[in-house]
Amino acid sequence: MMNRLSNTELPQPAPRSSEPSQLAVEILERLKYRIGKDPKVAKPHDWLTAAILVARDRITDKWMDSTRKTYSTGAKRVYYMSLEFLIGRMMRDAMTNLGLMDEMRDALASLGVDIDVIAALEPDAALGNGGLGRLAACFMESMATVDVPAYGYGIRYMHGLFRQQMADGWQVELPETWLAHGNPWEFERRECSYEIGYGGSVETVNIDEEVQRYVWKPAERVIATAFDTPAVGWRATRVNTLRLWAAQPIDPILLDAFNAGDHIGALRESNKAESLTRVLYPADATPAGQELRLRQEYFFSSASLQDILRRHLQQYPDFTSLPDAVAIQLNDTHPAVSVAELVRLLSDVHGLDFEQSWDIARRTFSYTNHTLLPEALESWPVPLFERLLPRHMQIVYAINAKILIEARRVRYATDEAIRNISLIDETGERRVRMGNLAFVGSHSINGVSALHTELMKETVFADLHALYPDRINNKTNGITPRRWLMQCNPDLFGLIREAIGDEFIDNTEALQALDAFADNADFQERFAAVKRANKVRLAKLIQANLGIRLDPSAMFDIQIKRIHEYKRQLLNLIEAVALYDQIRSHPELDWVPRVKLFAGKAAPSYHNAKLIIKLANDIARVINNDPAVRGLLKVVFIPNYNVSLAEVMVPAADLSEQISTAGMEASGTGNMKFALNGALTIGTLDGANVEMRDWVGEENIQIFGMTAEDVGKARAEGHNPRAIIENSRELSQALSAIASGVFSPDDRNRFSGLVDGLYNHDWFMVAADFEAYAKAQREIDQLWTKPAAWYSKAVRNTARMGWFSSDRTIRQYAGEIWRAG
Ligand SMILES: *Cc1c(COP(=O)(O)O)cnc(C)c1O
Repeated sequence: MMNRLSNTELPQPAPRSSEPSQLAVEILERLKYRIGKDPKVAKPHDWLTAAILVARDRITDKWMDSTRKTYSTGAKRVYYMSLEFLIGRMMRDAMTNLGLMDEMRDALASLGVDIDVIAALEPDAALGNGGLGRLAACFMESMATVDVPAYGYGIRYMHGLFRQQMADGWQVELPETWLAHGNPWEFERRECSYEIGYGGSVETVNIDEEVQRYVWKPAERVIATAFDTPAVGWRATRVNTLRLWAAQPIDPILLDAFNAGDHIGALRESNKAESLTRVLYPADATPAGQELRLRQEYFFSSASLQDILRRHLQQYPDFTSLPDAVAIQLNDTHPAVSVAELVRLLSDVHGLDFEQSWDIARRTFSYTNHTLLPEALESWPVPLFERLLPRHMQIVYAINAKILIEARRVRYATDEAIRNISLIDETGERRVRMGNLAFVGSHSINGVSALHTELMKETVFADLHALYPDRINNKTNGITPRRWLMQCNPDLFGLIREAIGDEFIDNTEALQALDAFADNADFQERFAAVKRANKVRLAKLIQANLGIRLDPSAMFDIQIKRIHEYKRQLLNLIEAVALYDQIRSHPELDWVPRVKLFAGKAAPSYHNAKLIIKLANDIARVINNDPAVRGLLKVVFIPNYNVSLAEVMVPAADLSEQISTAGMEASGTGNMKFALNGALTIGTLDGANVEMRDWVGEENIQIFGMTAEDVGKARAEGHNPRAIIENSRELSQALSAIASGVFSPDDRNRFSGLVDGLYNHDWFMVAADFEAYAKAQREIDQLWTKPAAWYSKAVRNTARMGWFSSDRTIRQYAGEIWRAG
C-alpha cells in the first residue's frame, strides 16, 4: 500500500550534501555496493560509473520534484519527437548543470582519480547523424533550462552512428558500441511497454446500428520498452526525461515456439524484433528506400503516442482536452506517421469519431522542416506503406480526401496546385509524401532560419502555404551555451566572466557587454592567449592520434560537418590546391601560415562524399610532405567526427568555414558554435549565416559568393561552368592537377569524375563561386597579419552571438507554437 502514501508521509532523506568529502564517501559506497569493486582493484571505468551514479542520485531528486510540479500545476506538456538525438558525452554537462563539477573534481582527486581522465572514457552517445540530431540534444537541455515540462521521444539504437576509420585515406565504417560498458545514465522501464503492430488486415465491426469501427489486425507485433535518461537544465532548474524505445519480441509467442522445440525459430523471432532498434539508419544516404527505416519511424511514433495518451488519461477524463494539455513537435518528417497514428488511436482504439480525432490531431501537432533538398524529402511507395500499415493507409486517404476538397474550394487552386498539395505523389510510382502529411496534420510548420523559412514558402510548400497561409513560421536554430561555451571552452568562459561579470551565464545575450572590450589591447591579448591554448590542446591531440605536428601560431581554418556536396568541402579543397600552387610559384611572397582542418562522416552509400574524404587525405599527404611549402600550408583530415571532437575543435578555430551553396543549408548550427567561441566566419549568405551577419555586423564576417537567388537563376537559366573554369587560371590549374592525378599517382583517374561534374553541370556552384571564395580567403589572410584588427572582430563575434542560444529558440517555440512553459 506504499503507493497510497503521499510523499509528505514518507520518511524524508536529508538533502544531499555537495561537500567533496561527502561525495568521496558516496563514490566509494557506489563502487562497493553497486559495482562490487574494492577501490584497490577498481578500473578507471568503475570510477566513472561510480561518479556518475553519485551525480545521478542528485539528479533523480530534482527529476522527481520536476515531475511532481508538472502534475500539481497541470502545466502543458511538450513532447519532442525525434528519430535522432546526437547527445555526446553526458557527465560534464550533467555535473556542471548541477553545479557539482568542482566538488566532484576535488572528491575524485582525494581518491587519487583525475576527473578529466575518466570523463574521456565516457562513450559519446551518437544517436544521430548531424545537425538535426544535435539540435534535438541542445533543445532537451534548453527545455529543462527554461522550465518547459518536456519529454524527448526517440529510439535507443544499440549502435549509434558508425565509427569512422581511415584505411589508406578511405572512409571505413565500423559499428559504434556505446553500450559496451552499460549505461549508468539510463533507467530501464520494463513496466512501461507497448505493442507495436505491422502488416495484417483491417476489419470493420458494427458497434451498433449506426456506428462502425475499424479494427486493425496486425500480422506481426513487437514490444517497445522505455529507457529513460534524465535531461538536466542549467542550474538544475528542471530535469526532464529523454525516453528512448527499444524493441523486444513478444514473449509468449517465443516461449511457445521454444517449448515446442523450435529453438532456432524462437531465436530468429527474437533477433528480428531486436534488429528494429539495432542501428541508426544513416539518414543522408540518398533515397532512404529502406523498409526497416519506415518500421523504425512507426515503431517510435506509435510507442510515444500510446505513452502520451496513457499519461493524459491519468489526469484528464477524455481526449477533448488533449490540444490544451499537450503539444507534440515533429522534428522533421521522420515521426510524421504520427499524424495518422494519433487519428487511429483516438478513433479506432478510444472510440472518438474521425472528424473529432482529426481536429484534435491538427491542434496538437506542429512540425519542423529541416531541408529543401528534393532527395531528402521523405516519401514512401504506396505498396510498401499499405503492406506495413494498412489502416494508416486508409487514414491517409481519408485525410487526403478532406484536404483536396478544401483545396478545390479555394478559387486559385489549379490542377497543378492540387497535385502538389495531395498527400500522394502520383508522378511515376505512387508515393506517400510525409512532408505534406506533417504539414496538413499540424497547426504550425516552422523553418529553422529566416532564409530557409522564406524559401520553404516559395518552393516545397508553396501551394500548401497558399492554402494555409498562417501556418508557416520561423524559429531560427540555436545552440546551448553551456556545452558550447562554458564546458568546451572553460578558459574563455573564465575570461569573459572576469571582464563583464556573471549576468551572461543566465542570459546569454548579456554577452553584448563584451563589445566594450573588443578594442582593448590588454583584453585582446588575453583572448588571443586563450585561443592559443585551445589550439595547443588540439595540436597535441592531432600529434598523438595522427602523428602530424602543427604550429599553433598558424591560422587554424576549420571545416567540420557531415561530408556533402552542398556543404562544399570540395570548394575548400580546391582552394587549398590553388594556394599550394601559389606558395610554390611565389616563394618570395609573405604567405600567411595556415592549417586547413577537416572532419566529417559521409553516408556509407554516398559515393562522391566518400571520394571527397579520400581527396582530402590525398591532398594532405602531398602538401604536408612537400618541402617547397616550408610548412606554410598543412591539410589535416581528422577521423571520426562527433560531438566530443567538435568540443575540442570549435574552441581552437581561428576561421570557421560555412560555405554551403546558398539556399541549401537550412540553418547550420556549427556556424554558431564557432562564432560564439571567437572564430571569424568565411561563409555564404545561407541558412543562419544571414542572421549571424546581421547580429555580428557585416564588417565582422567574411561573406562571399552567390546568393540563393543567384543560384536559383543560374540553375533555371543554365550557366556555363566550363567557361567559368577556363576563364580562371588558378581554378583550371587546380582542377587539372586534381583530375590528372597529381594527388593520386597510384590511380590517376581517381578524381576525374569529380572534376568532370564541375565542368559539366556544377550543380553546387563550386566553380561558379571559386573566384569570390579565393578572393575572400586572401582578404582573410590580410586581416590575419593585423592581430589587433583580427581580435577586435573575433571578440565582437563572441559578444554578439548571444541571441543564438537555444534558450532563445525554445522560448520562441514555447511562446508561439506550444503555448507552454
Ligand atoms: C554542431 C554539429 C553538427 C552540425 O554542424 P553543421 O556545421 O551545422 O552542419 C554536426 N555534427 C556534430 C557532431 C555537431 O556537433
